Amino acid sequence: MTKVAVVGAGVMGCAAAWALAARGAEVTLYEQFGAEHTRGSSHGRTRIFRLAYPEELWVELAQEALAGWRELELESGRDVLAPHGLVELCSSVDVSSRDVLAARGIEHKLLDRDELRAHRVELPDGWVALWQPDAGVVLADEARHAFLDVAQPNWETQHRVESLDALDAEVVVVTAGPWITELVPDLPVRVTRETVAYFARDGTPVPSVVELDDESRRHAMYALHDPKFGLKAGAHHAGHVADPDVEEPADPVIVARIVEWVRERFPDVDPHPVAADSCLYTSTEDESFVLERRGRLVVGSACSGHGFKFAPAVGRRLADLALG
Ligand SMILES: Cc1cc2nc3c(=O)[nH]c(=O)nc-3n(C[C@H](O)[C@H](O)[C@H](O)COP(=O)(O)OP(=O)(O)OC[C@H]3O[C@@H](n4cnc5c(N)ncnc54)[C@H](O)[C@@H]3O)c2cc1C
Repeated sequence: MTKVAVVGAGVMGCAAAWALAARGAEVTLYEQFGAEHTRGSSHGRTRIFRLAYPEELWVELAQEALAGWRELELESGRDVLAPHGLVELCSSVDVSSRDVLAARGIEHKLLDRDELRAHRVELPDGWVALWQPDAGVVLADEARHAFLDVAQPNWETQHRVESLDALDAEVVVVTAGPWITELVPDLPVRVTRETVAYFARDGTPVPSVVELDDESRRHAMYALHDPKFGLKAGAHHAGHVADPDVEEPADPVIVARIVEWVRERFPDVDPHPVAADSCLYTSTEDESFVLERRGRLVVGSACSGHGFKFAPAVGRRLADLALG
């Protein structure tokens, strides 16, 4: 049985532990804080899950992840996906994911303004809305617990790993999120502190909403269902470069920007936020992920603010790298 140490118990470390345990490895998971800490990237109730991306590689990875989430639900007996659907808002259909979804045979359709209003979302003049039903939210805290319930790793919390060489393991998987460069110094990543805000909303959950940037075709503003308050909204890559060891609250300037957007896109929602929070991104320039083997080390990093949805697929790739 291969002894594997996993450093960092955010969603990627938990997913790696799950995939490694399924392949018979003896896994020890190290976490510098407590099991429910809110200092990294994975805490909270929900994250957007979507198949729709304008680039095929992400669509393929999301399809693989969807199958993985379904397997995890069966294995753990927990619900981890809530399928409220996705609305992609774009200034033109050429910016949207339509062509890739069509090429891969994934169900989708364009909505007119009235059809979008039925989802209680407002379409800007001249824009298009693409609906994709196999989407919604991942229940983030539930998902981490589901991975751990199934994997049952040896589990050391409040243990900050200072030296990878000192770990008693044949392979070390490093999933240290925003702290990764303390352990793997040469990674081309930057850490930013991002802000989300919550709004009171009752009734049927909203679909997840992503508004794509014209040039990058990546999401800019986004919103999703929050089981506690009703609506969570944020601005992708709007935050400042941050030191993960310094705790900071939500940025009021970004909250104000989110408020304006929510006021325009969700006319039936009270635009006064009921809560706000901050969270860390670890990003590469092109939002790709670092998944690589270096001798005894496997590095799993840089989920660039959109990684949660892919966790089962990332966990399996890390297990492949670790076990060969
Ligand atoms: C505001 C926000 C919104 C997001 N929205 C979405 C979304 O809608 N959809 C989506 O798919 N993704 C989303 N993401 C991205 C997603 O949440 C992240 O990609 C994912 O959580 C990254 O997980 P991770 O395990 O790599 O990092 P982390 O969750 O940060 O985990 C790293 C862990 O390693 C531990 N650690 C670090 N160093 C050490 C050490 N030396 N010893 C022991 N432990 C250590 C840390 O304490 C931490 O627990 C969002 C992220 C943020 C911040």
